[in-house]
Amino acid sequence: MTNTTRIAVIGMGQGGMVAAIKLAQAGAKVTVFERNLEGKVGYPWRDDITASVFDVCGLPRPNQDVYIQKAKWLFVSPDEKGALRVPQFRPFVEISPNRRKLTEYFADLAVKAGATINYGVNVEKLVVEDDRVIGIELDGKLERFDLVIDATGMYSKLRGQLPEKFCVQKEPSEQDTMYAYRAFFEKNDGAETFFPDVDNTMVLRHMDRDGIGWCNLNDEGNVDVLLCNIARPLTDEEIEERLADLRKMNPILSEKKLSDRKVPLSVRAGIATPVADGYVALGDSAFMTIPVMGSGIEAGMQGAAIFADYVISNDVQNFTASNMWPFYVKYFEKLGKGFAFLDIVRRHALRFKSKYINWALSGKFVTDDTLKYIMLDGEDYRRPKYKFGMFSAILWKLIFNPSFNLAILKMAFEGIHASNVAGRIPKKYSLEAIAKWANKYDRLIANCEKKAERRPANKK
Ligand SMILES: Cc1cc2nc3c(=O)[nH]c(=O)nc-3n(C[C@H](O)[C@H](O)[C@H](O)COP(=O)(O)OP(=O)(O)OC[C@H]3O[C@@H](n4cnc5c(N)ncnc54)[C@H](O)[C@@H]3O)c2cc1C
Repeated sequence: MTNTTRIAVIGMGQGGMVAAIKLAQAGAKVTVFERNLEGKVGYPWRDDITASVFDVCGLPRPNQDVYIQKAKWLFVSPDEKGALRVPQFRPFVEISPNRRKLTEYFADLAVKAGATINYGVNVEKLVVEDDRVIGIELDGKLERFDLVIDATGMYSKLRGQLPEKFCVQKEPSEQDTMYAYRAFFEKNDGAETFFPDVDNTMVLRHMDRDGIGWCNLNDEGNVDVLLCNIARPLTDEEIEERLADLRKMNPILSEKKLSDRKVPLSVRAGIATPVADGYVALGDSAFMTIPVMGSGIEAGMQGAAIFADYVISNDVQNFTASNMWPFYVKYFEKLGKGFAFLDIVRRHALRFKSKYINWALSGKFVTDDTLKYIMLDGEDYRRPKYKFGMFSAILWKLIFNPSFNLAILKMAFEGIHASNVAGRIPKKYSLEAIAKWANKYDRLIANCEKKAERRPANKK
């Protein structure tokens, strides 16, 4: 890669920035465009990731002023009677970075690598000539680039401007979106959390709706609330109703709101194809998220690193869809196949009757210790010793719940099928083969939705 290779990165999320850093380090002339002003990029809160993702992406880990240890979490059943502790890994295996500080950390690395960052620039138009993206339009003028990296998020306006022939999906569907309401409240003085010694409480299928509700005591001593719903944003009345319910179970949650925000998250498996001549989508723009909860920091970072490593090590100079495609095959092999499985699992799990989740979290099926045993590795000092009957008890209980079994089996079968279809991603770029495969892959997701029995409680 030479300094005559001009690359535009649109959007300063983690996906865009990991690509910007690595490509600038490799010698390309990288220009980043971000619509927000400096200091205002990224969400003003913390989210969770695995610390090792920096190593996986070949980047130094940030200093400890950027993150804290991930808090202890509790999963609570929809009837709010059962709960399981989420096993905690060794200290600092999972961390909660401050999103704005993380953005600043990436910006610093990018500038040190030679990239230029332009804040306060909203890029709304790609310039396409002879079916190739040749740059972007700024103030009515063409700014030429050899490659435009679209890292503007799941509702990218740029994707929709690509020539049809590249089969890049323009919009996510409603069912691929989790609509979140996140708010911060003052803590009630002297009040205790829902469960002793656990700061973060997440209710699954909160109030029997398609989504979760969490109420967490954060490191600043405030209460962090998240309410989610699939397919449509929550109305103000629903938000109030759900806040009132959280207040009943969480004495820490006061009425004094400090800030709030409604924001969509991508909860679907990777886009079928993210490349066009002169263009690639990375991060949420290519739906690079773990489709269960919409965790896209890590997946977006990894997707961007796979892209940058591929074009650098193969010395790609001409950024055609065909030359870039093998990166996406690698992404699918490493992550995309597994995410296709999780996508289907998430859609099935939403249809599970609340009574199943109540039962699963009641302590009669799995216990805190069983979960720890399954999730923590043998090296971890927190992993409990194997107890005779730990798993035979689960099997025994499953035998007597045939309808639960059937639901699980259907979910597993469809999930494995989706993962197999995703694994058959064409290895070589051919528009015909990709269109055929993309049709199959997207149909899996669409069909899973069609079969969904939407509960009246969640219909509007
Ligand atoms: C409430 C909530 C909780 C979450 N929790 C987690 C979590 O715990 N773990 C996790 O991994 N993920 C989490 N996520 C998801 C995560 O935030 C996203 O998946 C991730 O930020 C996507 O990164 P990205 O780089 O693709 O884009 P984004 O972070 O969405 O960044 C896109 C950037 O592009 C800019 N931009 C957009 N359009 C333009 C334009 N036209 N011109 C110029 N700039 C533009 C935006 O201003 C923004 O800075 C959460 C999201 C939300 C909303």
